[in-house]
Amino acid sequence: MKTLVRALAAVMTMLLSLPAQAQEVSYTAQSTTFGTITLAKAQAVKLRLYDDGVGGKPVKTIALKKQGVDKNGYPQWSAVVKGDLKGKFYTLDVKYDGKFGGECAGLSARAVGVNGRRGAVVDMAETNPQGWDQDQSPTIDARDLVLYEMHHRDFSIDPSSGLKNKGKFLALTEPRAIAHLKALGINAVHMLPSFDYASVDESRLEDNKYNWGYDPLNYNVPEGGYSTNPADPKSRISEFKQMVQALHKAGIKVILDVVYNHTFNIDGSNFQHIMPDEFFRKNQDGTYSNGSGCGNETASDRPVMRDYMIESVKYWVEEYHIDGFRFDLMGVHDIATMNAIRAALPPHIYIYGEGWSAGSCAYPADELGMKAAIYKMPGIAAFSDDIRDALRGPFSDDHQAAFLAGLPGHEESIKMGIAGAIKHSQVDYSKVNYSTKPWALQPTQMISYVSCHDDMCLVDRLKSSIPGITTDELIRLDLLAQTAVFTSQGVPFMLSGEEMLRDKKGMHNSFESPDSINHLDWTNLEKYPQVFNYYSKLIALRNNHRAFHMGDADMVRNKLEFLPTQDALVAYHIKSSIPGEPWNDIYVVLNGSKRVRTVNVPQGSYTVVCRNIAIDENGLGTIEGPTVTVPAQSALIFHN
Ligand code: CA
Repeated sequence: MKTLVRALAAVMTMLLSLPAQAQEVSYTAQSTTFGTITLAKAQAVKLRLYDDGVGGKPVKTIALKKQGVDKNGYPQWSAVVKGDLKGKFYTLDVKYDGKFGGECAGLSARAVGVNGRRGAVVDMAETNPQGWDQDQSPTIDARDLVLYEMHHRDFSIDPSSGLKNKGKFLALTEPRAIAHLKALGINAVHMLPSFDYASVDESRLEDNKYNWGYDPLNYNVPEGGYSTNPADPKSRISEFKQMVQALHKAGIKVILDVVYNHTFNIDGSNFQHIMPDEFFRKNQDGTYSNGSGCGNETASDRPVMRDYMIESVKYWVEEYHIDGFRFDLMGVHDIATMNAIRAALPPHIYIYGEGWSAGSCAYPADELGMKAAIYKMPGIAAFSDDIRDALRGPFSDDHQAAFLAGLPGHEESIKMGIAGAIKHSQVDYSKVNYSTKPWALQPTQMISYVSCHDDMCLVDRLKSSIPGITTDELIRLDLLAQTAVFTSQGVPFMLSGEEMLRDKKGMHNSFESPDSINHLDWTNLEKYPQVFNYYSKLIALRNNHRAFHMGDADMVRNKLEFLPTQDALVAYHIKSSIPGEPWNDIYVVLNGSKRVRTVNVPQGSYTVVCRNIAIDENGLGTIEGPTVTVPAQSALIFHN
């Protein structure tokens, strides 16, 4: 027994002295342990300690020692440095083929100096805001989620926002911001990349440089540009947590946009510094594959990258209490890795992604996390470009319109979206724009949307694709589009600012456009009060009625029945007796045409709750079957 205890103790000591890949730095007031993995051919690993995040000479240089291998067979290197190193900065430098490759912050830094070039030694317990121990994720089932995609700078930067912490994480802790989100009725904020990215110089924030942030530098650290002091490693961590805490208190989940599919560049990346070429896919001719469209693509199929992704998302959940992840270009990642990520995270963590890539990948296409393969990834959702483009027109041509312009031929794609991309006997998949068959097992595997940060926002798209559109028409069609989205059985998603009729001055790709293009103009709330009013009532209608988010494929198949389509008109009936649903039969008609239309329904008297761009759950009057009229360019919803 004693021998066994001693053996176990020895194993424990070994584990403690060798930080896992995900934790390169393990701090105590008495000593700090540094570690990394490398390729087998690494000859030496040098640790340099600094007083500052940039500049100055190392105060100490230490050689890490090789100590065993990790589970994938990579050598592990580590060193214990005595003394209290809190507040110090460090770099790692690996020697291959007789020369050191250069300093970097390591594979998995959890705190960094300004611009993320050096790691930082931080006592993470000190970054926790008061009450963080009690912070809890709101309990919201996947079928009940309403996603709001936002960029920190867009949301708060304009003076009209009335927010103090402009462009910062802390803006979302302010009562005005929370009140706006609550009044709108969303319950999950999906934040554009908020990990440390490369394109904004954190030491020159006064330049007001803008970027979406799809250029990852350090995956496990918040972006410094959104903190009040990027030079203080604790600032970004603590303020990020304060933001999460404030949103959680308001009953709002926090979802991170994660971009593991590529790095800002190859040579400057931590991956390449520590383990050359191990994290990137290559073509047969030896060149780097570029499925991300950003110059490289990571190799999720390799154990080293797969483990990296798993450890990283788990870390965000554990340290920052994150509630979900949106995978950028999920089609670059392999299906096995996405399923491993799903299995590694608790069930309440919502996972979805872009089911496509931005170029061909150096990996078998049928093994990638594409939209068409979502049925092979239970518990993971994908964006439906089917319903998006059926409403507004194709991504490839901003001038081409679709259903919203009254054009026929898009009805089956919209029906597929309404059913949540599951198999439904009344959808004719041969007439769907992109998909040839259903791809979701459950409706919660489909993200329903009409616009996001990519491409034109909805207002610009309507203006671009419908020449001569009047403001009245613009508003009618905007509201019609969102009615299709928010009454869909998929998980609804909206771009921040659509509720205030945002535009981006016609800019198609605003990834680095100035604030004048990307900012939300909050004065629009007063200019177009009917827009926010409709959005909030539409979201409330969905939230209050189980019929619009059944969350179960069989129930959708049993209860949702389409009426005959007409050109640019889709109508459906949700049959009575759905558990938790107070209304009996519900009818939804979406009329994209400029004409008043008629639809046949069973004889009877119905209460109207949405008509001619007005919503009132208590009723807007009654109508009588068997023939009801639907005003032009709008939705009609009624029940008995
Ligand atoms: Ca940065």
